[in-house]
Amino acid sequence: MAKNPYICTFNFENSMQINEHYTEIGNNYLFAEVGKRVREYRAAHPEKEVISLGIGDITRPIAPAVIEAIHKATDEMTDAKTLRGYAPDAGYEFLIDAIHRHEFLNRGIPVRASEIIVSDGAKSDTGNIGDILGADNQVAITDPAYPVYVDTNLMAGRKIELLPCTPENGFVPPFPKKKADIVYLCYPNNPTGTVLTKAQLKPWVDYALANGSLLLFDAAYEAFIADGDVPHSIFEIEGAKECAIEFRSFSKTAGFTGLRCGYTIVPEELKARTSKGAEVSLNALWKRRQSTKFNGTAYIIQRGAEAVFTPEGQRQTRETIAYYMQNAKIIKDALEQVGLECYGGQNAPYIWSRTADGMSSWEFFDLLLNKIQVVGTPGSGFGASGEGFFRFTAFGNRESTVSAVERIKTLFG
Ligand SMILES: *Cc1c(COP(=O)(O)O)cnc(C)c1O
Repeated sequence: MAKNPYICTFNFENSMQINEHYTEIGNNYLFAEVGKRVREYRAAHPEKEVISLGIGDITRPIAPAVIEAIHKATDEMTDAKTLRGYAPDAGYEFLIDAIHRHEFLNRGIPVRASEIIVSDGAKSDTGNIGDILGADNQVAITDPAYPVYVDTNLMAGRKIELLPCTPENGFVPPFPKKKADIVYLCYPNNPTGTVLTKAQLKPWVDYALANGSLLLFDAAYEAFIADGDVPHSIFEIEGAKECAIEFRSFSKTAGFTGLRCGYTIVPEELKARTSKGAEVSLNALWKRRQSTKFNGTAYIIQRGAEAVFTPEGQRQTRETIAYYMQNAKIIKDALEQVGLECYGGQNAPYIWSRTADGMSSWEFFDLLLNKIQVVGTPGSGFGASGEGFFRFTAFGNRESTVSAVERIKTLFG
């Protein structure tokens, strides 16, 4: 066969090399497989109405106050006098000040404005933070978990110890067997919907301080907290400013999953040493990383995020969160009524249910899809400790949530 001159192949004997760690991570199997099974079912049963309690995305409209601010900011782009180009790397001062005042100063949490670094979301930040951390660090990650933590550390070639979180330990992660240099914690938790109280989080801050470890605290669901003894920020815990970085997002708080805005808090107290013994500030390193690889979040979106903190923005976004949390209560009450053991749903939009009759997560998925056309997310997709569990989300609309739980009650009642 004649060689196609337009296709250039590498000479594998002596060519560039890929990051082979990328071949060691699994495929993005979970949601692809859920989608495939639902599509196949729909094709075979076009007359059946399938309801999803599986998605981790918003379904309610974005707050009018946010939309209004976005429109106004868009109009500013039509005039050379108000036009904005590149945004400051760490975010506009108006947004940093609004975050600082509402989230930290007003709550008496000791975070400085200079420690808040605005971004396009918590997924990027939790994934990119590894850029400033050495490849030889030993990492500990709770199991089950948001897949970004495990996958990005595998991509970097770091060694990982998983910390099983199950009903047996009350979803309080055990300390690592091997001393961890970096620990990922996510509370309120995705996927289990469980939380740590201040008293349960404090030992992790003490562990980090005693071992010279860094805590990476994902607080994406902070706005869903209802209980008074659950910290909204790890910086409510004494000593955390010397050992923790916190990730926040407008995605679940204010429906920004498609708009993209988040922020990371890197305390100025956070110091590390180079191998030669020089002291380095992690705040400076992260800002350096961002200014090199990231050109800022859109002005229009930052104006939208700022509007979340206006009185109307607060009222409207709280209303939406209350709506989702009412869904969570409807789901949780129904599962409990039919005797399914379940967790979460009180301070987070997720309900983590044990499967019926000792089924595997995927057996339970197929049962719900085939028998009552309800879709959820198999717990095993979030890690080995999720096997035998199932995640329901409260992000649906009320009518479909109510129909789904009616079907669950009929099947198991
Ligand atoms: C949804 C979610 C985020 C937010 O990601 P964005 O990139 O800000 O949309 C972060 N962490 C967890 C655990 C999440 O579930």
